[in-house]
Amino acid sequence: MTILPPSPVAPTVDFDADGVQHGFLRLPHSRDDSAWGSVMIPIAVIRRGRGPTALLTGGNHGDEYEGPVALFDLARNLRAEEVNGRVIIVPALNYPAFVAGTRTSPIDRGNLNRSFPGRPNGSITEKIADYVTRHLLPLADIVLDFHSGGRTLEFLPYAAAHDLDDKKQEEACFAAVAAFAAPYSMRMREIDAVGMLDTTAESMGKTFMTTELAGGGTATARSVAIAKRGVRNVLKHAGICAGDIERGPTQWLDMPSDDCFSFSFEDGLVEQVKDLGDPVRKGEIVALVHPVRQTGRAPFEHRAALDGVVAARHFPGLIKTGDCMAVIATVGN
Ligand code: CA
Repeated sequence: MTILPPSPVAPTVDFDADGVQHGFLRLPHSRDDSAWGSVMIPIAVIRRGRGPTALLTGGNHGDEYEGPVALFDLARNLRAEEVNGRVIIVPALNYPAFVAGTRTSPIDRGNLNRSFPGRPNGSITEKIADYVTRHLLPLADIVLDFHSGGRTLEFLPYAAAHDLDDKKQEEACFAAVAAFAAPYSMRMREIDAVGMLDTTAESMGKTFMTTELAGGGTATARSVAIAKRGVRNVLKHAGICAGDIERGPTQWLDMPSDDCFSFSFEDGLVEQVKDLGDPVRKGEIVALVHPVRQTGRAPFEHRAALDGVVAARHFPGLIKTGDCMAVIATVGN
C-alpha cells in the first residue's frame, strides 16, 4: 500500500467546533507574482451537536452557477440553531476555475471532476480533489455536488443519482434525489465516470446525489429557486434541519444505455428541431448540423436512438465534431 504524503491544504476552520464559521481552504500556490501565495477556497462550517454531516459543493466546474448561488446564500443565512449536526459548504470548489468563469482551472487546465481521487503532490486541481477525498468526504454522511450544463450544454432541471452495486446505498441516494424535488429526477448514466467526485464518494459508501440544473454559462430565477429549495429539502431529509420537505411534481427519467447520447460527426451550424423537454420517438430528428463552407450541402441529422424526451442539448449555435449534441432520456414513473 502506498503511503500518500499529507495534503498541502490548510483549513482555517475547525470542523469540530460548534457555531457558524466562514473561512478558507488555503492551498499553497507558489508562482511568479506571489512566491508564497495561496489559492483561498471559501468554506463555511455550520455545526451544532453530534448529528449527521452534509457536504454541499458547487463550482466543481467553474462555469455552472446554480450551486454557487444557492450555496453562498445558504452559507450566509443558515444559523447554527437550525442545525442538528454539521453542514460543510464549499460553494466554489474549483475556485480558480470559478473566478475565471471557465469549466477547467486556468492554472493547470485541470477538470476537477476528472481529477478524483486526486494527488497531494499533483497539480493544483489534483490537490483540491485529494483534499476532498481524504479530508472532506470522510466527514460526510450525505454529499450533494451541484452541477449545471456550463457554457456548452443545457439540461432539463434535474437532480440525479447513479445505479450502484450496493442496492441499499442506491436506495438512500435516490431517496435524497426525491427529497431535492427538482422538476425532473434522473437515474443518470455517465459518459466518463473515471475521476469523478461522484464515483469517489459512492465508492466510499456515501449517500451521494448531484444535479444538472439548466446551463449555458448562466443561471435563471427559476433554476436558482430549484437549487435553493432543493438544498434545504436535502438538509431536512438528512435530519439536519427541521421542517417539512417542500415537495413538488417531479418527472422521473432514465438513461438506460449509451444510445441516450448523440455526438456530432460534423462541424457546423446547429438547428434545434426539438427543444428541451420535447418528447421524441426513436428515429425522429432532434437536431440538424448544417455545413457552412458552402451553400447547397445537406445537413447532418441527429436522430433519437430511443423513445423519450430531450434531456440535454448542445448550447452554442456552432458545434464541432465530437461534441455532444443531445441527450435523450426515457420517461420513468
Ligand atoms: Ca458539470
